[in-house]
Amino acid sequence: MTPKEFFEFAKEHGAEMVDLKFTDLLGTWQHCSYPVDTWSEGTFEDGVGFDGSSIRGWKAINQSDMLAIPDAATAKLDPFFARPTVSVIANIVDPITREEYARDPRSIARKGIDYLKQTGIADTCFVGPEPEFFIFDEVRYDQAQNHGFYEIDSVEGAWNTSRIEEPNLGYKPSYKGGYFPVSPTDSYHDLRGEMVYAMRELGIVVEAHHHEVGTGGQCEIDMEFCDLLKMADQFMWFKYVIRNVAKNHGKTVTFMPKPVFDDNGSGMHTHMSLWKDGQSLMAGDGYAGLSETALHAIGGLLKHGRAVLAFAAPTTNSYKRLVPGFEAPVTLAMSQRNRSAAIRIPMYSSNPKAKRLEFRCPDPTANGYIMYTAMMMALIDGIQNKIDPGDPLDRDIYGMTPEELAETNKTPASLEEALNSLEADSEFLTKGDVFTEDLIETWISYKRENEIDEFRLRPHPHEFALYYDS
Ligand code: GLU
Ligand code: MG
Ligand code: MG
Repeated sequence: MTPKEFFEFAKEHGAEMVDLKFTDLLGTWQHCSYPVDTWSEGTFEDGVGFDGSSIRGWKAINQSDMLAIPDAATAKLDPFFARPTVSVIANIVDPITREEYARDPRSIARKGIDYLKQTGIADTCFVGPEPEFFIFDEVRYDQAQNHGFYEIDSVEGAWNTSRIEEPNLGYKPSYKGGYFPVSPTDSYHDLRGEMVYAMRELGIVVEAHHHEVGTGGQCEIDMEFCDLLKMADQFMWFKYVIRNVAKNHGKTVTFMPKPVFDDNGSGMHTHMSLWKDGQSLMAGDGYAGLSETALHAIGGLLKHGRAVLAFAAPTTNSYKRLVPGFEAPVTLAMSQRNRSAAIRIPMYSSNPKAKRLEFRCPDPTANGYIMYTAMMMALIDGIQNKIDPGDPLDRDIYGMTPEELAETNKTPASLEEALNSLEADSEFLTKGDVFTEDLIETWISYKRENEIDEFRLRPHPHEFALYYDS
């Protein structure tokens, strides 16, 4: 859509308002609305000003005046406003130099794609994420107060120190009904359906939606793969749609990787493949039907995996998911089929075009723009340096002895470890100036100060169970 078509689109839908959206450092949409008649085609070049110092992670800049340049190609009719409103995603630039702001996540994805093309390795990076999430009942604040802390649905408290196996006194469907159960165990089929219908109206191609293994309302909605920048934009819409449809039904959604103790967490397995001139670079006659290029790419992702996780599993809670026993990966190795390895090579299809890798470590708290780009940069580095991915790990890692496990290259045990890895291993990201030093330093210090320290300083409910009577 061109700027001219943007105004035609708004008119056609009777939209008098335009909603400008952009993503903060951590991956949350920010927005501001304008009457359409205050914009002209020139707005798509000149941009609109805002105070960048109030946006999370952007504070450090001295000159807080920033410009948001709307990208007309991203315009969509927003389904969640009472009156017709066109939403458009913006790129952020400095008002004086008009350079892209290095902490704008979208600029990282755009620079990443440009760099991929410049290397001559590939011109397209396809991304297919599988975000999982939990749906819970919304509890009003005053009700939550009565319980002392925020109670979530009928799951008897994520804080509990041991798993609650309740007797089924009420003849109700059990909370945990397995992976693909039909209704009534899968009580959210229609709600997910509504989410999917909303996505389809926005032009998002959905492949499937289903109940997941976790207690009560764990769900998954899978989008068809598309190119990296489009997917990063789409992932923002995805979370927005899911949260707002749930809200309209008195429910809430969390993408937290481990909301419930001793139960399955929510991951965002991410499938990726590199293409050049319409040809996939992934298929070949190596291990699991992979090309040499793909094996090197995997070598890069395994080598830099711990640093990539600082973006792909970016919360303190992420590392409560990356533990044995819940289908989450704990070992940085590749494998065909094995779901306990960080990289799986799906073997469903013999079509060479479908050949790809699945990185199983990420979770949906990641900022898609930054995480998909970090992952792609690791693949590029692997190809450039012909990095050997090592031997595949085709046995069940959960069944290994502690001695055998000690020999493997493990996923980080905490956000702190992941950030330390990123601090020590960031050169593969700064190539082509895709990630700036400033962005990496800001990310690390933001996470350390605002998340790790803030969490460390607070008494944890489980400490009461452990130490109250000490
Ligand atoms: N929920 C699992 C995870 O945390 C993944 C389950 C699946 O294989 O889809 O990664
Ligand atoms: Mg799943
Ligand atoms: Mg998967």
